Amino acid sequence: MKLTTANHSRDVAGLRYVYPVLSRRSGGLSIGINFNTNNACNWRCIYCQVPNLKLGAAPQMDFEVLEKELRFFLDYVLNRNFYQDFQVDESNRVIKDIAISGNGEPTSLIEFDRAITLIGDIATEMGVFPASRFVLITNGSLVHRAEVQKGLKKLNQYGGEVWFKFDSATEEGRHLINHAGQSCQLSLRNLKLSAELCHTKLQTCLVDYEGGGLLLSEREALLNLLKKINGDVRLKEILLYTLARPSFQPEAVRLERLSIEVMNEFADQVRQLGFTVSVSV
Ligand code: SF4
Repeated sequence: MKLTTANHSRDVAGLRYVYPVLSRRSGGLSIGINFNTNNACNWRCIYCQVPNLKLGAAPQMDFEVLEKELRFFLDYVLNRNFYQDFQVDESNRVIKDIAISGNGEPTSLIEFDRAITLIGDIATEMGVFPASRFVLITNGSLVHRAEVQKGLKKLNQYGGEVWFKFDSATEEGRHLINHAGQSCQLSLRNLKLSAELCHTKLQTCLVDYEGGGLLLSEREALLNLLKKINGDVRLKEILLYTLARPSFQPEAVRLERLSIEVMNEFADQVRQLGFTVSVSV
C-alpha cells in the first residue's frame, strides 16, 4: 500500500490504537494514537471527519495493547521496512511527531495521564523524543478536570504541546460549528489553564457555511478575543486551517473550504496583534 497525505484511515496499519499518517501539515510521518476507538466525542463539529461519530467518551484503555502496538510500530518504522512497505517518498521518511489525535476527544479517557506517561516513556526510551514532537490535539473542553491537568503537566515534561481547538468566539458560532455544550468563557478558562501547564497552540478551523464566507461578525469576535487575551494567555502559535477533506456530518453539503486569500488576509490581521500564525489550506 502507498501511504499518501490523502490517506487518513485509522486502520491503515491494522492496529487498534496506533496509525500512521503522512501529514501535509508537518511534512513527514505523524504517528497517530487514537484513544477513541468507539468514535465518541463530547462535541459534534460540523466539519468532523470521524465516521459514525457519536456522543460520549473514550472507552477504557487496554494499556498492554497500547504498549505492545507502540513498541511494535516504532520498531517497524525505525528499524524495519515500514517506509518501503508503504512506499513512502524519501523526503517524508522522518517521524515528525507522535500525535494523540483520534476519533473523538482524547482527554475524555479515564487514566489520561497514565496514557501520556506510557507513550512519553516508550518514545523517549526508543529515541523518538525529544527529536520528534509530542502533540495532543484536543477541543480543550475537559482541561478543568484534575486528571487532564496531570496529563498536561506530564506532556510538558516530555516537551510536548497542546493544540487547543477554538473555532469561534461567539456563542452562536460555537453552537453552530462545534455543537459545544461549553460557553466561550469556560473554554477560555480552560485555554488559560492549558497554557499555564504546557506549551499551547490555538487551532482554529474556519469554514464557509452556506456560502457566507468568513463572516465579519465571527472575524471581529475572534480578533477582539485574541486582543483581549494577548499577554494574559501565553500562546505559542495560532494554527489556522480550513476544510482539507470532506466532513462526515450531515451538514457536509453546506460546507466549503475558504480560499487561501481569505485565510491569509485573516492570518495577517491576527499577526498584527503580535501572534505567530501559520495557515494550512
Ligand atoms: S472535537 Fe474533534 S473529534 Fe470531536 S467532533 Fe469536533 S472535530 Fe470531531
